Amino acid sequence: MNKLRFLFILGTRPEVIKVAPVVFAAGETGKIESQILHTGQHLELASEMFRHFRLKPEFDLGVMRQNQSLFQLTSRITEGIGEIVSRNPYDMIFVQGDTTSAFLGALCGFYCKIPVGHIEAGLRTRDRYSPFPEEMNRRLVSPLASLHFAPTQRACDMLTGEGIPRNCIEITGNTVIDALHWSLKQNYPVRDDIKDIIAAPGRMLLVTTHRRENFGEPHREVFSALLELVEGFEDVRILFPIHPNPNVRNEAAAMLNNHPRIHLTSPLDYQSFINAMQKSFLILSDSGGVQEEAPSLNKPVLVLRESTERPEGVATGAIKLVGTSKTRIIEAATELLTSQKSYQIMSEASNPYGDGSAGTAIIKAAQRFLGQ
Ligand code: UDP
Repeated sequence: MNKLRFLFILGTRPEVIKVAPVVFAAGETGKIESQILHTGQHLELASEMFRHFRLKPEFDLGVMRQNQSLFQLTSRITEGIGEIVSRNPYDMIFVQGDTTSAFLGALCGFYCKIPVGHIEAGLRTRDRYSPFPEEMNRRLVSPLASLHFAPTQRACDMLTGEGIPRNCIEITGNTVIDALHWSLKQNYPVRDDIKDIIAAPGRMLLVTTHRRENFGEPHREVFSALLELVEGFEDVRILFPIHPNPNVRNEAAAMLNNHPRIHLTSPLDYQSFINAMQKSFLILSDSGGVQEEAPSLNKPVLVLRESTERPEGVATGAIKLVGTSKTRIIEAATELLTSQKSYQIMSEASNPYGDGSAGTAIIKAAQRFLGQ
């Protein structure tokens, strides 16, 4: 029997993390030939992740340019993907999540009449501009895709509510949990520059923020809350691996560079980041992936966003939506730093995102769909 040919299209750090388990599961069948197309939306961050998961893209579009607009990014990605998918007979194209690469990968698959499988389908904030442009990217993939891999029942309900037939949806859990389990088994060293920071006595807050809608004033509010927290709690230190986007880097450096208990570093490799999460007391983040991973490590997350497409974690009590107001952040963090009971409730809440078998479930559903 001929092997099925799958193309995985991805472009950013979280996509590499979340697609890797599906590529692994495809490889384990022995019946699928997989290729990876990397658009290059997060060049340095994604390359580090490819090394971590020992994956090598067959195609690398290298679309990023300094200060390019979304319009330019969109046309570069579309042309690049279009050229590759139109000359290769794939049985299925996989896209993940909510990036511009995911939306355009799905669009190109549709143009070539190749079925598209959407990993992490059905998450919605219901606010078209938040996160921007990710909420709209994710929604636009849905009518283009043929198979929808919903991480949770809620995501499945969102899709059926929008008219996607139930028999085109598979509830799989989130592949980020597979990636986390896989990575916890590897024996990688922690990056040298953070060894002392994570081993120091006292309590460590881990911070990440990179969403467009937080650039400017929201970031300044968050950063002044961080300053007030380290001033208020002498045993608290902050580790803040800064996203390379200049908007984040410059604002964080301007406000936080000079405090002895605030450590600003370059983005961490995944293994070091997981180690940092494990050693942290509390995480403050606007990241989607971190909201899903942290409950598996029993770490509470204060989400620095006004809305989340991941309310399951809020419902179980593992994460709390605090937005970017200085007062709210200080209040919520202080509560966890001073009340053992509140801390315990959050850290012991269950993880609603699955048990680490999502990759296999996705590949099985795709094989069934293709009659293999
Ligand atoms: N992450 C990492 N190093 C860092 C910060 C985050 O490896 O310095 C990982 C994190 O564990 C998560 C993913 O990157 O799996 C989240 O990526 P990001 O926050 O860029 O995107 P989002 O999840 O918000 O789409």
